[in-house]
Amino acid sequence: MLGLYVHIPFCSAICNYCNFNRGLFDADLKERYVAALLREIMASGDADGAAADTIYFGGGTPSLLEPWEIGAIIHACRRAFDVAADAEVTMEANPETVTPERLAAFRDAGVNRLSYGVQSFRDEELQRLSRLHSASRAADAFAMARAAGFDNISLDLMMWLPQQTIEQWLASVEAMIALGPDHASLYILELYPNAPLREAMARGQWSLAPDDDAAEMYLQAMARLDAAGYEQYEISNVARRGRESRHNLKYWTDGEWLGFGCGAHSTRRAVRWKNLSSTTEYIEAVASGGQLRADCRHLTPREALEEALFTGLRLSRGIDVHTVNARYNVDVWGIYGSRLEPFREAGVLIYDGRLLRLSRAGMLLANEVMSVFLQVPVVD
Ligand code: SF4
Repeated sequence: MLGLYVHIPFCSAICNYCNFNRGLFDADLKERYVAALLREIMASGDADGAAADTIYFGGGTPSLLEPWEIGAIIHACRRAFDVAADAEVTMEANPETVTPERLAAFRDAGVNRLSYGVQSFRDEELQRLSRLHSASRAADAFAMARAAGFDNISLDLMMWLPQQTIEQWLASVEAMIALGPDHASLYILELYPNAPLREAMARGQWSLAPDDDAAEMYLQAMARLDAAGYEQYEISNVARRGRESRHNLKYWTDGEWLGFGCGAHSTRRAVRWKNLSSTTEYIEAVASGGQLRADCRHLTPREALEEALFTGLRLSRGIDVHTVNARYNVDVWGIYGSRLEPFREAGVLIYDGRLLRLSRAGMLLANEVMSVFLQVPVVD
């Protein structure tokens, strides 16, 4: 089953740490963009009636679209693809953009899962990140979504924020648990080289806690989420049973997806491509029937194998080595085992002859373990 990703590149303001493909909201540009999206989706449906079971609106801030626009895009997906009746339809939303009426209309339009970018339940931290909402607005947005009938809500939080202590971080985690979301994503703040937040940090003399504290933040938050009944199923993601993100699982389980909109990535039948990043160039290319794909290449069997291994290792359940061996006609442990063994001895990696997975503490060293998959030459 395919996943369908729809990129909405508009935001009301640009956050000082954000490195996504986004720009300021412009009503006219948005209208032209939605028209282009509808056209791209309708033109992408293939003759074999490909089946899809997830639609994911990511951004940017998809909740800046009007509910009828979201509805039109879902409708186009259903016309172009064989979308399952019970498909998971997720929309990322910013707390300040929702009202009870808009949420009810998004639900009527077909959205059945919301993912709120909360980031913190402390106003001071939200202000440092130049977010537009407050902690109480985030809690209200959550309550409004429940009242509108959303029974599948995810909240994003970010740790290791400037000036944040372990206790302050855990206070946000507790506030989130008190709301009772169905799913949560916990990310470590990553500052790209020219992020305006770096300047703000220098001006305000804000510092980041030591690396060891970042590790503690992660481990203690996960322990609290365990105790609250959440299951960690991926390095950064926890869910109540059955509420894992079906869409995002496609990225980590060697699945296939099509991305629509500017900068959206797709992977299908061992081909990977990316659409033009610029919103205006994308709109023009759709209108003129020009080349939408900025980058398109066939994955070699080696690349596909590496990808299956390092994305699979992100999952708590890990990689089923037998399945990967059969699918790629290789002997994974035979190829990588000698380099992985030190990680196993150190308790970073767990391997029982079939399942290969990171321990929780090992998740903090995931990049080092994954780099093993890029170092060993394999004869294809
Ligand atoms: S709302 Fe999200 S996508 Fe938009 S600028 Fe802020 S972090 Fe980036």
